[in-house]
Amino acid sequence: MKKNLVFLGPPGAGKGTQAKRLAKDLGLVHISTGDILRDAVKNQTPLGKKAKEYMDRGELVPDDLIIALIEEVMPPEGGVIFDGFPRTIAQAEALDEMLDRKGLKLDAVILFDVPDEVVVERLSGRRVCPSCGAVYHIKFNPPKEDEICDRCGTKLVQREDDREEVVRNRLEVYRKQTAPLIEYYERKGILIRLDASKDIDEVYQELRKVV
Ligand code: ADP
Ligand code: AMP
Repeated sequence: MKKNLVFLGPPGAGKGTQAKRLAKDLGLVHISTGDILRDAVKNQTPLGKKAKEYMDRGELVPDDLIIALIEEVMPPEGGVIFDGFPRTIAQAEALDEMLDRKGLKLDAVILFDVPDEVVVERLSGRRVCPSCGAVYHIKFNPPKEDEICDRCGTKLVQREDDREEVVRNRLEVYRKQTAPLIEYYERKGILIRLDASKDIDEVYQELRKVV
């Protein structure tokens, strides 16, 4: 049966970067709630309109909206990497309940362990393609041509919520609302800690070893 994984860790830890690669190599579906929400904001859908104010402030979008979203995008046969979800105990409980109902289970929760200063450096240098969503870093993963997306040629931008004032709040929100999930999954015996402070290829090698 295909695996169901959760990638847990602070913003900027490298979850999305690794999830894209692992999903491709293992044939899993990458579900990033952040990506789905940013798309919804861009397309001004009802969800996007509700979520925007929270995202702009670096706060969490209300649990009921996120849980409804996950129910909608979850493939019935599983085989998923959840990236940036769950972020609260209520979301984790809803996920357990949903998987149970579908006869699925979580195989592992990978904790991306990185010190705060690394996170700040990664977030401040992150650049994204507004058109295809590709993610770069000005120093650690630069595009071939300065500030231009390798995949589609669009000019890269900085995410609104990667500005310093918002980053501080996002880290605080992570500590208060999301970090309690570490203990939640440790108790279930499915938490795997990953040293995510190494470079992108090294982290990926480690990840392949543990999953
Ligand atoms: P998250 O999804 O956890 O918020 P991202 O995958 O978007 O994090 O990574 C944050 C930034 O750090 C991006 O600019 C990305 O290119 C860069 N990055 C990701 N992993 C590493 C790594 N192992 N070393 C250096 N930079 C990284
Ligand atoms: P991310 O791309 O994972 O850094 O998420 C960007 C923003 O989207 C977060 O700061 C939240 O405002 C919102 N968001 C993403 N995932 C969730 C979630 N599981 N629960 C609540 N809000 C979320």
